[in-house]
Amino acid sequence: MLLTMSLRKSWKLIWVGACVVLFLIVFFSFQGVRNPSWRGLTMGTSYSITIADRPRPAELADIKASIEKRLAEVDAQMSTWNPDSEISKFNDFKRLPALRELEGENFSVSPEFAAVVRRALKIAAATDGAFDPTVKPLVDHWGFGAQADAEPVAELMKAVGWQKVRVENNALLKANPDVQLDLSAIAKGYGVDAVAEVIRSSGFTNFLVEIGGEVVTSGTKENDEPWRIGIENPQPDGEIFQALELSGGGMATSGDYRNFRLREDGTRYSHIIDPATGMPAESDVASVSVMASACMDADAVATALFVMGSEKGFQWVETHPEFEALFILHSNQTFTTRATSGFPIEELTTNSH
Ligand code: AMP
Ligand code: MG
Repeated sequence: MLLTMSLRKSWKLIWVGACVVLFLIVFFSFQGVRNPSWRGLTMGTSYSITIADRPRPAELADIKASIEKRLAEVDAQMSTWNPDSEISKFNDFKRLPALRELEGENFSVSPEFAAVVRRALKIAAATDGAFDPTVKPLVDHWGFGAQADAEPVAELMKAVGWQKVRVENNALLKANPDVQLDLSAIAKGYGVDAVAEVIRSSGFTNFLVEIGGEVVTSGTKENDEPWRIGIENPQPDGEIFQALELSGGGMATSGDYRNFRLREDGTRYSHIIDPATGMPAESDVASVSVMASACMDADAVATALFVMGSEKGFQWVETHPEFEALFILHSNQTFTTRATSGFPIEELTTNSH
């Protein structure tokens, strides 16, 4: 009798325990996650994402999976470091004798890839070739690419020039067999826009996406405050130089402070090439940050402004009202800053080298 009573009691306890666990599972799966924020690696750099809309755990898992998939797609389209990517295959098309015989005149690509090349050519035209997606042979020559190219610059220049690539529907054409594309100056921005689109299509409107320093924000942080972005001090150990509010839209930065090589005399040369000369760009700009509604546009234009230098670059932004820019300039032992009127800068500071 006593035994059956204590058995009954323990069953009751087990039931109550199970109900509590079930309740907690249901409760937490409907409860949104506060400010989920995570990091990862893509396109040879890091990315970070924060969503301020409290997605539920299951939604968050779905978004993360969709973002990973989207980033892998962009990489498979635009990485010159991946020999099987669409861009690498286009670059080999006609250049390698075996392919020359096999393929027709046009090279078919995915609609997304065609759209990015079309946009890149448009920005190349608008910046008078300061941004030029055909610089690949020069990028390789100067030691910043996936391949080595020891041919003299004058020879390589025969394959450089944005007018040497055409997009027709979803096919690309090259003017001569040696023409190759490098979309590194626009691909990170494109990746940021693509990830933002994934988050938006999942129904969220308040978030921040960043890939290798290129950023898109949407809406606000959880407490309704605007997102704040730091611009790096243009030195190899870069700390935050300037913080600013970015409430919607994209921002991208180009500079010579992270990716450079040293000449024998100790002077440095940058990974950004001046397509007009075929040489690494000699610029008074240490870094330039550009704002635009699409991060892809900000990315390409930032590279172009670095090539133009601050005087020409500033004039260019003033005549293109859809862009704003902050230039950080080399100036003796210090940096000086120069911002266009719409750039949301709070206070200008000057830092020592
Ligand atoms: P970013 O960091 O966005 O300025 O892009 C620089 C990268 O784009 C370089 O590492 C090269 O791969 C490529 N690049 C260099 N110079 C140019 C240029 N003038 N136009 C377009 N892409 C370039
Ligand atoms: Mg760029």
